[in-house]
Amino acid sequence: MKRKTREQRIVEKYVENLGENCPYCGSDKIASGRPEPESPALIFRLSRCTECKKEWDKTFTLTSIKLLSPLPEIPNSIKFIKSLKRKR
Ligand SMILES: [Zn+2]
Repeated sequence: MKRKTREQRIVEKYVENLGENCPYCGSDKIASGRPEPESPALIFRLSRCTECKKEWDKTFTLTSIKLLSPLPEIPNSIKFIKSLKRKR
């Protein structure tokens, strides 16, 4: 197994800590910009430490959804997926 770089370890710690501390100086004085969608499933959000003034981009990816409305008996989405399979 390849050894992790210092940067990879810092990124892991940052995510583990839920992004509450600056990855450069550890301060919790962090300002965040507006989320910038790169695609419907990938969003970047600029963060800036107000103490050491360094910046980084937080990356958000779509991992799941929670359905809030009741599903119909046979959802159209399932019919759609089945129709795609039949065409192959
Ligand atoms: Zn900082």
